[in-house]
Amino acid sequence: MTSSNKLLKIVFSISVLLLTIPMFGQHAVIDSTLHKKVQQRTDQIFDSLVKIRRDFHTYPELSDQEKRTSQQITAYLTSLGMEVHTNLGGYGVVGILKTNKKGKRIAWRADIDALSSNLPDVEGLQSRNEGVRHICGHDIHTTIGLGIANVLASLKDNLKGTIYFIFQPSEENLKGAKAMIDDGLFKLIDPDEIYALHIAPMQVGLIATRPELLFAEHKTIKVSYKNSSENQLVIAHTKKLLSGIQNIEPDSEFWDNRNLLDPTIGLGSPKTIYKDYLTVNKKFTISETDDQISIRTILNSSNRKKMESIIPMLKQDISSSKYAEKLIEVVYSSEYPTVFNNKELTSKTLNKLSDIYGNRHVNHLYGVVPDGRSDDFAYFQKRIPGVYFLLGGSNFEKGIISMPHSANFAVDENCIKFGVNAFSSLIVERLNN
Ligand SMILES: [Zn+2]
Ligand SMILES: [Zn+2]
Repeated sequence: MTSSNKLLKIVFSISVLLLTIPMFGQHAVIDSTLHKKVQQRTDQIFDSLVKIRRDFHTYPELSDQEKRTSQQITAYLTSLGMEVHTNLGGYGVVGILKTNKKGKRIAWRADIDALSSNLPDVEGLQSRNEGVRHICGHDIHTTIGLGIANVLASLKDNLKGTIYFIFQPSEENLKGAKAMIDDGLFKLIDPDEIYALHIAPMQVGLIATRPELLFAEHKTIKVSYKNSSENQLVIAHTKKLLSGIQNIEPDSEFWDNRNLLDPTIGLGSPKTIYKDYLTVNKKFTISETDDQISIRTILNSSNRKKMESIIPMLKQDISSSKYAEKLIEVVYSSEYPTVFNNKELTSKTLNKLSDIYGNRHVNHLYGVVPDGRSDDFAYFQKRIPGVYFLLGGSNFEKGIISMPHSANFAVDENCIKFGVNAFSSLIVERLNN
């Protein structure tokens, strides 16, 4: 996950709302026998999963260099009796679990790479690869992926359909998903649905997401003109036009991050003020070449359609201005993929998780976090309907805060148990019902 510090502060503040989440609800389950089996198997393998996670944590590998990690994954999936494919888009690994009955095909994706960091590990699990650390939680994602693979392999005879486990390298540089696709991933597998999670600084035992954009779409807009003696006027005019796109007043309550938590206007409320915004960064970048001048700034929006409407609207405005003749282009440059959850699947899966593990574990977010964040899982979602979940990894009582990319990143390893339970159960439901 690539994200800014500002965002992390925001996500952290969301999590403060959700301090006390009991671990497992005693709610009626849909197919209680199968979900009980999921829980029993998870309990059986939990200690071994913790060991695996600590091993990954101790030997983190940077994007494009996940050789050892992929070998461990391959060995584990092979030991489960799966068909395993390696070296896809770099060190990508795919495990295929076939049941004996025809049915849906579901993919689970975990990212496996780590980050550069020289700071000591707060969990006492010091990295043995100098300068590299798992401070985005991908060691947890990988472990949960293996745990789900183990649980579902053990229940194979009770399931129908096929489950694909995608272990993706190079998420931090946003290259791995595309590299796997370019390397023929979807010739090898043909999923109907795809899911992934990211550890978030919410309390352990909590899952959250929302339909469509989870984080604001974040794009750089570039307006270019032919160079002329009127450059200064052109710049002033364009800045004014761009600033005018923003639909949030400068003194609005939107800008106060504390409102993200507000029960009536915050992210968790149906009346949230964070679901229909487009903001314009007031920092404009001007660049000039021999024959053209460009004005750039960053737009953030909760609404993809709104974002798409901006370019035609600006072109229209400029072509009716006295600078029409000078305009070369209005484009989005440096676009990053944005996680975009399938609407129907989001509501179905969150409701299913609530049915199995209880409402208190599941948080439907109504607002879109007002800052850009990228995960190249977005490339898979462009091809296959999918949902990206946030999974709580923090334990505030114990001072454990799983803030991605922070030097003191830590997790409560119970999130492995909850993640394996919840998402194995979810896949069981998606396959069998
Ligand atoms: Zn990251
Ligand atoms: Zn990440």
